[in-house]
Amino acid sequence: MKVSAGEVWHEFVLYCIEKGYAGVENLSLIPGSVGAAPMQNIGAYGVEVKELITEVEVLDLKDFTTSIFSNNECEFGYRSSIFKTTAKGKYFITAVTFKLNKKAKLNTSYGAIEDELNVMGVKNPTIKNVSDAVINIRRSKLPDPIKIGNSGSFFKNPEVSIEVKNKILSKHPNVPVYNQPSGDFKLAAGWLIEQCGWKGKRIENYGVHTKQALVLVNYGGAKGQDIYNLSEDIIQSVKKKFGVTLEREVNII
Ligand SMILES: Cc1cc2nc3c(=O)[nH]c(=O)nc-3n(C[C@H](O)[C@H](O)[C@H](O)COP(=O)(O)OP(=O)(O)OC[C@H]3O[C@@H](n4cnc5c(N)ncnc54)[C@H](O)[C@@H]3O)c2cc1C
Repeated sequence: MKVSAGEVWHEFVLYCIEKGYAGVENLSLIPGSVGAAPMQNIGAYGVEVKELITEVEVLDLKDFTTSIFSNNECEFGYRSSIFKTTAKGKYFITAVTFKLNKKAKLNTSYGAIEDELNVMGVKNPTIKNVSDAVINIRRSKLPDPIKIGNSGSFFKNPEVSIEVKNKILSKHPNVPVYNQPSGDFKLAAGWLIEQCGWKGKRIENYGVHTKQALVLVNYGGAKGQDIYNLSEDIIQSVKKKFGVTLEREVNII
């Protein structure tokens, strides 16, 4: 299905659910447009949009010619693509083509989804049930950007070697660790930040969200520099405690 870049992402997800097109349900309620989705390969609850994109149509901002990037040519990575790295600022994405499934292959491997489906009393989930579960979880954990200024997850989950993972595990046996196909291990950045005492910390009119330490919030009137400085302090304290350098997921402009 080819979708124009200006469509609202969540409305596209709801349209797919209504039509019975499976694949995007785990990506429910991510704020933004369809055209921005390939930029950082949006992802949530065990699904990344790169798994669903076949083509990205672009307008070259230098000579205004149009061309098509295949999935491979988009060089998708974790919260990354060619449009966020080597081709940054070169193209305007005009449309994205997705390959969705009429037969649902649900991904409820993220524990929170299973738990929420249980709370909802759902035994044989449909894509609508999974979408509703994701929406419920997101609403309970993430601040609504219309009410409190925020950019969602401020940091990426760091990937570390087996040596670093074992060193951290020996001191902190509860650290959430996810095995990666590369042989490395992904750690939950939010957990690391929380262990450093940042969760819910407020400095004047900005701070770290009370329910999710990955999210920095502007309660009103804080400057970009304030948020940047806070993110730098967080990076330094996580480095000191765990020896891991967090990378920002957001674009700094
Ligand atoms: C509360 C909250 C929760 C979030 N949760 C998630 C999450 O779970 N997973 C996730 O991956 N992200 C998440 N995000 C981040 C954000 O929703 C995504 O990055 C989204 O894709 C941004 O869309 P946008 O239209 O607002 O893009 P913008 O923020 O306006 O732009 C992002 C970048 O893309 C570029 N861009 C936008 N459209 C185009 C286009 N058509 N062509 C070329 N370049 C373009 C912009 O120039 C900019 O560099 C969250 C954000 C918030 C506030």
